[in-house]
Amino acid sequence: MADEKYTLQHNKPECIGCGACAAVAPEFWVMNDSDNKSDIIDCKNLENGWEEKEIEEKDFVKNKDAAESCPVNVIHIVKKENNEKII
Ligand code: SF4
Repeated sequence: MADEKYTLQHNKPECIGCGACAAVAPEFWVMNDSDNKSDIIDCKNLENGWEEKEIEEKDFVKNKDAAESCPVNVIHIVKKENNEKII
């Protein structure tokens, strides 16, 4: 478990811009004034509008908290090793 890596995912098209993720985990999430939705900081932008970022074990809990705070469940975390969806 020591070096588990995860992919943090944001289904941005479905984000309602409530701000919860940026309040819970401001190291990873920021509100975007231009579209009133959140962004993962330093993420990869996918063609379908989703955002992705690789995170490490130490960053897991904060982002899981952010995902659990999202009222429309558009934040997901997937284990890199086997694509297991955690949330
Ligand atoms: S908590 Fe969810 S809906 Fe709210 S800004 Fe973050 S990703 Fe968007």
